[in-house]
Amino acid sequence: MADKQNIKYSRDIQVVYYPDVDVMVCGIGCAGLTAAISAGRAGANTLAIERWPFAGGNTTAASVNGCCGLADMTTGKLAVGGIVTELLAEAGILVDRGIENDIVVEPKEILHHKSEKLFEPITDIEQIRKAHTRLPYAWDMEKFKRIADKLLLEANVKTLYHTQIIDVIVVGSKIEYVLISDRESVKAVKPKIVIDCTGDGNIAAWAGVPFEMSDNPQPATLVFYVANVNIPKDKQKLQDKCTEVFRQAYEKGQLDTFGGPYLSWPGANIVRFNAIRQKLNTLSTEALSSVEIHSRAQAWKMFELLKSQLEEFRNAQFLSSGSAIGIRESRRIKGKYTLTADDILQNRRFPDAIVKGAWNLDYHPSDKIGHHPQQAIPAYDIPYRTLLPVKIDNLLIAGRSHSATKEALASSRVGVTAMGMGQAAGTAGAIAAKENILPRDIDINKLRATLLKQNVIL
Ligand SMILES: Cc1cc2nc3c(=O)[nH]c(=O)nc-3n(C[C@H](O)[C@H](O)[C@H](O)COP(=O)(O)OP(=O)(O)OC[C@H]3O[C@@H](n4cnc5c(N)ncnc54)[C@H](O)[C@@H]3O)c2cc1C
Repeated sequence: MADKQNIKYSRDIQVVYYPDVDVMVCGIGCAGLTAAISAGRAGANTLAIERWPFAGGNTTAASVNGCCGLADMTTGKLAVGGIVTELLAEAGILVDRGIENDIVVEPKEILHHKSEKLFEPITDIEQIRKAHTRLPYAWDMEKFKRIADKLLLEANVKTLYHTQIIDVIVVGSKIEYVLISDRESVKAVKPKIVIDCTGDGNIAAWAGVPFEMSDNPQPATLVFYVANVNIPKDKQKLQDKCTEVFRQAYEKGQLDTFGGPYLSWPGANIVRFNAIRQKLNTLSTEALSSVEIHSRAQAWKMFELLKSQLEEFRNAQFLSSGSAIGIRESRRIKGKYTLTADDILQNRRFPDAIVKGAWNLDYHPSDKIGHHPQQAIPAYDIPYRTLLPVKIDNLLIAGRSHSATKEALASSRVGVTAMGMGQAAGTAGAIAAKENILPRDIDINKLRATLLKQNVIL
């Protein structure tokens, strides 16, 4: 291997949209989507940037379809309102949990019945382990993309897809410029407020904010779909049979590992598999590339095993896999407060709570096969300070890289919770830009009152 070589590179870069950007949202995944919509609705000139050609992040790109975090799993009551319920009304679908007398409210009705019990809770560990699907609500991903576009447009958000954020320039304790690479060239944006919704905490890390990253983070998963399956009435039984096929294959060395499998049923004769489990350093492009290649091979291996061994899969076809592998855990950015598992378990109340977390403590182990234990917990407070990074003053962070320990992130990482954080960050960013103050200096009572007016549940 040749010695390392560095070069210095310099050229003039055009500053675009200057001086108009009040709020720049980096990444239009779960958190970024609601951050951009809420900042736009609040009247801030909002620019939102995404590397994929659609919004939704893991929800769409990685085919993650469960609405985890939507309701308190111990009561069945709605836990996160606001934009999430608008999205759900348009792009939500009901799925069969196979539980008799389940109270299930149609996604459209959730928008107007926020305190109602949506479903019978599943809190028993054994039930959670077995349930083929734990929530009766899922996203229709193609509708999700369309509704996301519509809400962004209606909120007057300048939305750029196919654009990669590549670096930041920090002056003092502020991000002065964000560098982007679009289909033309490298450009710069000079926003007042930046919201990092990249899931990996890229912007915060590049700006020098300290972060933590587990040596053994939760594994990544390539979701895949199999069509033309003869799905029996007893879906749990089919899930158990698939588990057994994968377990035996693992013992014979035919599969290197597997999680769950968690099966869901997005359409007639179609089964969706959340079963691949890959350990990786999410910041390494080389590792990510080889994991994508390996996961596709493992998905096909799983499909072939099922097709050759289970009658229900005899005529099955491999339909599709996620456009990208889904990443559960990456950088956790150091914030003014770090959410802990103890905060969650003690149900600690915070005066600066801006969203409720509601999902189980659901830590996917990368070194175990099959289903893992999960703990259902009552809905809990997520403080605004977990969205305020240390060191950089004009930055907010929302989604799975907010400030949390890895144990707390086992719950707060999920999609709906990220969307709730995004709505709070976007609203806060707009207030800060309008009042020409820093996000940490905004009146928290004003932020909470504004969120309540937006039907957020606090
Ligand atoms: C396999 C799997 C199954 C899951 N199952 C569920 C489930 O059923 N229900 C649930 O609620 N949650 C589930 N989760 C968790 C959940 O999907 C994520 O934690 C959630 O997506 C977090 O949202 P986010 O906005 O923080 O990140 P993301 O949704 O990942 O969004 C980050 C966005 O930033 C963009 N981005 C990143 N870097 C750049 C850059 N440099 N330039 C431009 N754009 C950039 C990305 O393209 C992406 O769109 C699952 C996760 C995985 C991996």
